[in-house]
Amino acid sequence: MPDIIGASLAGCAAALELLRAGQTVTLYEKSKFPRHKVCGEFLDPAAVRLLSEVRLEGAAIRESALIWPTAEQRFALPEPALGISRYRLDQVLLDAAVERGATLIRTSGKPHPRAIVAHGRKPVSQRGQRYFGYKAHFSGRTNAAVELYFQDAGYTGVNPIEDGLTNVCGIAREEELTAVGFSGDRWVASQAKLAARLDGLERKMDWIFTGPLFYGPTEASTGYLCGDALSFVDPFTGSGMLCAVATGQLAARSVLEGRSSEQHLNECRRLLLPSFRWSTLMRRALAWPFIPNLARLLPGPLLYRLSRPSPEKFEWRNSQSPPRL
Ligand SMILES: Cc1cc2nc3c(=O)[nH]c(=O)nc-3n(C[C@H](O)[C@H](O)[C@H](O)COP(=O)(O)OP(=O)(O)OC[C@H]3O[C@@H](n4cnc5c(N)ncnc54)[C@H](O)[C@@H]3O)c2cc1C
Repeated sequence: MPDIIGASLAGCAAALELLRAGQTVTLYEKSKFPRHKVCGEFLDPAAVRLLSEVRLEGAAIRESALIWPTAEQRFALPEPALGISRYRLDQVLLDAAVERGATLIRTSGKPHPRAIVAHGRKPVSQRGQRYFGYKAHFSGRTNAAVELYFQDAGYTGVNPIEDGLTNVCGIAREEELTAVGFSGDRWVASQAKLAARLDGLERKMDWIFTGPLFYGPTEASTGYLCGDALSFVDPFTGSGMLCAVATGQLAARSVLEGRSSEQHLNECRRLLLPSFRWSTLMRRALAWPFIPNLARLLPGPLLYRLSRPSPEKFEWRNSQSPPRL
């Protein structure tokens, strides 16, 4: 059976799928777990279903809010999502894989043509505008909403996670973060509505940053790519983790069923690319000055649905027939 390079979401989803089929699994992971990771920590309900064999505990997220300096739109989510930290989620999945028999090798692995490659996104330095991600957890009053606060070309998401904590995570242009000395506190304070939302909450960890972020094709690694290693995923819609889990499972099935890595890649493209093109477009468009007024007129549930892969695409775990491959 192939090596799996990277033991985060995509890697563990692939490992669990192979273990379910009675295969031996070797996972390579270069980072020490548990660890904090820049992520909105909004887990799509379809991902929760795909991972139904693992017990996940977090906070229910039932509502969404799109918030601009001059406008706001709130709507109920079609079904509740799960707020869960990457500190907890990644460890739970890795524990499950190891308990079920995976061998974990705590070192860097090298992608090769027969490997399942789940090593995440490789940062690419671009000329011109660069984006960075940031995140911290807060304690204090909480609610059941994922709230997106838009500012210029980026946004900050605020949502509950486990243990009564609130995750605050977003992306911003490098020059905007440089202007506040890459201080998360100063960045939050510079945005009136976001600052008001976080007023009275207590930050429980140092801000962490990641980047430069790049959304688009990078030089592909060899092997059965899955998750962010595919370089398709724009995190704007909060479905990167769903795609990591789904494509990790697909990579395992491709290996089990003898498909080539090219066939696997084509299936991932077909499954994911249309919605992510929408989501990238929306991320860019939502920063345009006239958009708040326009977006107020568009039904939130429609925006939500357009910007993410439809859940039916990921229901193979519960259906009789396998996904279309
Ligand atoms: C600002 C921001 C906010 C986001 N918010 C959300 C959200 O709210 N909801 C959502 O669903 N998604 C969100 N995402 C996207 C989500 O974080 C990713 O899509 C997801 O983490 C991808 O999982 P992965 O397993 O593919 O990769 P990763 O989580 O990046 O894991 C890759 C793993 O591989 C390991 N690794 C790398 N190279 C090697 C090597 N050579 N050998 C061994 N190990 C290696 C790394 O240490 C890491 O553990 C967000 C992303 C950003 C940047």
